Amino acid sequence: MAFEGLTTRLQNVFGKLRGKGKLSEDDVNEAMREVRLALLEADVNFKVVKDFIAKVKEKAVGAEVQKSFTPGMVVVDIVHKELIELMGGSQAKLAKSNRPPTIVLMAGLQGAGKTTLTGKLAKLLQSQNHKPLLVAGDIYRPAAIKQLEVLGGQIGVPVFSLGDKVSPVEIAKQGVQLAKEQGNDYVLIDTAGRLQIDEALMEEIKQIHAAVKPDEVLLVVDAMTGQEAVNVAKSFHEQLELTGVVLTKLDGDTRGGAALSVKAVTGCPIKFASTGEKIDQLEAFHPDRMASRILG
Ligand code: GDP
Repeated sequence: MAFEGLTTRLQNVFGKLRGKGKLSEDDVNEAMREVRLALLEADVNFKVVKDFIAKVKEKAVGAEVQKSFTPGMVVVDIVHKELIELMGGSQAKLAKSNRPPTIVLMAGLQGAGKTTLTGKLAKLLQSQNHKPLLVAGDIYRPAAIKQLEVLGGQIGVPVFSLGDKVSPVEIAKQGVQLAKEQGNDYVLIDTAGRLQIDEALMEEIKQIHAAVKPDEVLLVVDAMTGQEAVNVAKSFHEQLELTGVVLTKLDGDTRGGAALSVKAVTGCPIKFASTGEKIDQLEAFHPDRMASRILG
């Protein structure tokens, strides 16, 4: 599972700290040095770590220690709260348009998990009594259309496709039109990814964006790719106004840096976490729960 290394290291630091009756400035500095190293080792972005440590130190200096707590416990609590803030504070919900259908555009690199997420999100929406329509806009990856059709078939959600000879912009437009006619209240548009960011990919998704004016642009990032995930998020955000991030493959052996950096670097909230290949392995991302999980 993600974060194992980070959790173990932080537990060591905090274990030493918690027990202390009094904390000298040196104790705090030493603990923060270790927290810093642990975060860097977990692949958290360098600048994010620097700001994080500065904030924690500032708060630790001014903190009042109530009778029932040790100074060490207070520092641990400050770290906990700052971790929650770092990941966005409160839970960010999926957009909901006042004028349905709500249009959700998926963006991301190939293999990040966009098609899988499109199916998962449809299932989640369906369980909340929504009527989603899936739109097969990835016409380049062999089998992406079929994959979406299979996912839709599994959960009984319609999939709109025009094969791989029509432009994705046209497919997206017609998909939205169909949703209006059929009364679907969500349209989830799967798009093509490339192995890395390239101009053609960005141009195409920008055109889709301009054509359908989505209410939500979700960037799907593979948490296993660590720092690279942050770079990808940054590039996409510069070119396309993202409204949310979905971290995938958090079930894997990821060091967790992506989860801890993406919000700070892009300003975009993490809305969902994908934790497996199965269609129901999708969770709303709760910064507070994630912080508790990281601290162990
Ligand atoms: P796309 O190219 O972005 O559409 O990526 P896909 O949706 O086809 O996913 C690529 C691979 O990652 C597939 O084998 C998925 O089963 C797998 N995958 C997607 N999400 C997750 C996840 O959360 N955990 C794990 N372990 N695998 C995932």
